[in-house]
Amino acid sequence: MAAFSEEIVRWVQEAEEQVTDRFRELDRIADLNQWKVIEAFQKFQVSDFHFAGSTGYAYNDRGREILDQVYAEVFGAEAALVRPHFASGTHTIATALFGVLRPGDGLLYISGTPYDTLHKVIGTPGDGTGSLQDFGINYDEVPLLADGTVDWDSVGDKMTDHTKVIGIQRSRGYDWRDSFSVAEIGEMVARVKRLHPDCIVFVDNCYGEFTEELEPTQVGADLIAGSLIKNPGGGLAETGGYICGKAKLVELAAYRLTAPGIGGEVGAMLGTTRGIYQGLFLAPVMVGQAVKGSILAAAVFAKAGFLSRPAWDAKRTDLIQAISFGREEQLVAFVQGIQRAAAVDGHVVPEAWDMPGYEHPVIMAAGTFIQGGSLELSADAPIREPYIAYMQGGLTYSHVKFGILTALQLMLERKLLEISG
Ligand SMILES: *Cc1c(COP(=O)(O)O)cnc(C)c1O
Repeated sequence: MAAFSEEIVRWVQEAEEQVTDRFRELDRIADLNQWKVIEAFQKFQVSDFHFAGSTGYAYNDRGREILDQVYAEVFGAEAALVRPHFASGTHTIATALFGVLRPGDGLLYISGTPYDTLHKVIGTPGDGTGSLQDFGINYDEVPLLADGTVDWDSVGDKMTDHTKVIGIQRSRGYDWRDSFSVAEIGEMVARVKRLHPDCIVFVDNCYGEFTEELEPTQVGADLIAGSLIKNPGGGLAETGGYICGKAKLVELAAYRLTAPGIGGEVGAMLGTTRGIYQGLFLAPVMVGQAVKGSILAAAVFAKAGFLSRPAWDAKRTDLIQAISFGREEQLVAFVQGIQRAAAVDGHVVPEAWDMPGYEHPVIMAAGTFIQGGSLELSADAPIREPYIAYMQGGLTYSHVKFGILTALQLMLERKLLEISG
């Protein structure tokens, strides 16, 4: 057994007592979402034969067709496109945006600067990469106000008749802001529709799925997208993404993924179908485990003297736990400690590197069964002031606890932790 210093073990025990009431609420949400998923499977009579992979064009792959219907049901949407052919969350989001936007249309993000990997999808006019702006789609964004809310005056100024899509990012991503709850997203949608009823509201739902009872499509969002190696993949989906929303918009995204006229009617699932189904089945509970871990981390690192966001007692709408360390060495030790606690690649020591799509060097702890899978315990940190680590995931709460203990122990060994009596 790993030896942890007494003080660290005491912090974790105290924090655990502090947060038990919060866990009851999380169990309730996990139950509701678990039942919602089971009922969707039952409604469409999911059977063993649906899990068989398909090859070639894969016309009439019933497993794939029912999977789309199950997702649409779970997310309260008209239609869904759930595919292993989405290479990542960024690819999925790009497909949704390129699917519905045309040259001359405008995309306006109202939740501040989007997630780092989307910057190159948006691109700049004439950049020659085939980005949105390279294709003549106009992009603008409205920074959030100091209190983290939407700057509606500025949204009103920037929205024009050409604004076709309003973008909202649910999760904080790599920003030190609060994530938007589903209720807040619902209010945002209503307000956008009052200004311009025909605008399409798109929500980047990454990291949000199953953390609350409802999803953005159930409060009016027209189109949402997310990654299967995050929440809804339940740790089992090997790759892929999903898009849910209005049937017409999902169809346009499908035309972009494959080709106009073909859309979602082809696409061999190979051997991925069972994992995607079973992952969806497990996801509500796995997400609950991960959120419990995040809340524990918030409470423990507060005891250790670091700023955590959200705080342990704040409402949650995503997996991400941001912890601000203030010093690069502390950040690096934390990330390396999370890696050291992994079942897979626990012997590897992560270093910062220039990851494609990111603007600063990034250090990542990703000792995962699925490469980059971030419903599994992982931590990412761009190396930039004030040295914030973004920790997320954990298929089991016990693993997250082990990760917290190991990270603190490593920080202690490197004399980066203040222990007072
Ligand atoms: C992870 C994430 C993405 C991009 O997904 P990748 O799979 O990393 O490409 C986009 N937006 C948000 C908010 C995310 O968390």
